[in-house]
Amino acid sequence: MTARVRGQLYGVSGSRSVTAWLDREGDTLRWCDEAGQALAVAPLDACEVSEGPGGAAAFVTLPHGQRFETREGAALLALGAGAGGFRRAWVSRLEGHGGAVVLAVLVTALLLYAGVRFAVPAMAAEVAEAVPPSVAQGMDRAVLRGFDEGVLAPSRLALADRERVEALLAPLIPGVPSHVRPALAFRDGGEAVGANAFALPGGHIVVTDAIVELLTDAELQAVLAHELSHGAARHSLRRGLQFSGLAVLWSWVTGDLGALLTILPVTLLEMSYARDFEFEADAQAVERLVGIGRDPEALAQALGRLSPAGTEKASSGYLSTHPPTAERLSALAAAVERVRGWEENL
Ligand SMILES: [Zn+2]
Repeated sequence: MTARVRGQLYGVSGSRSVTAWLDREGDTLRWCDEAGQALAVAPLDACEVSEGPGGAAAFVTLPHGQRFETREGAALLALGAGAGGFRRAWVSRLEGHGGAVVLAVLVTALLLYAGVRFAVPAMAAEVAEAVPPSVAQGMDRAVLRGFDEGVLAPSRLALADRERVEALLAPLIPGVPSHVRPALAFRDGGEAVGANAFALPGGHIVVTDAIVELLTDAELQAVLAHELSHGAARHSLRRGLQFSGLAVLWSWVTGDLGALLTILPVTLLEMSYARDFEFEADAQAVERLVGIGRDPEALAQALGRLSPAGTEKASSGYLSTHPPTAERLSALAAAVERVRGWEENL
């Protein structure tokens, strides 16, 4: 005679769960309440048992979907031992085998990583391609309105200075795909935005007074070539789409849609996309600059001037989104070498 096993029985009519005692008679399991009243009866070999990690807790699934949970796992297994014992659930064998659990976790993580790293960007790129120019330009207007109500103020630049910057952009435009309509938007970014330039989805490039005042013409043109490349490849649109894709993926994993925007992992992953886009925009900027006979080294010089102390810890301004990391600078140098190689072979 084995000892009775105490636990909670779920799925009994009229209540969420009841305290029950499990007993075995031959090949039949019988659950009773405290008063000895029968709650459920099932053949032993029709019940499925699974163990929690460590074996302290165990669960029995009854044939009609009822479920018995106990913290007396060892006693439960002893009770079911012998010929015609419990059927073991697949999950319990996994849980009982550390290596398999690790493998399952790794496979899940790998699938998620593949989704985040490859599927989401690929889908975002395709959707971004399909957005009509008029819609993208509508986004530009909406984004600019938002900025103008917040951190950006009207530019204080003299007309002559604006015309000088327009003249730097003009020769770069011919190589840009027709769905992108490049245009400059001059703004005063104050302390918060600092010396900065950024591309909007439809082709607008926001240029702050501070960056115009800080950089030489050659450096400014290099920065414009970089931003134009972001616009041509619709990077900001793709970033936005990728972010929503990640948000959906994250909510699928965690089941929490409400806390999405405060979730750090999403932000960190999003930043790695931005990094890929920076390398791409740098390489294309080099090609554009060389294409119009300018020195592509000006881009690296611009980054250097934007971080005079050689620090990468800018909390605002161009360097907060464009840190001149060693990796980025060496990729930039390699792009310059490559494009110069083409030029020599032509
Ligand atoms: Zn950039």
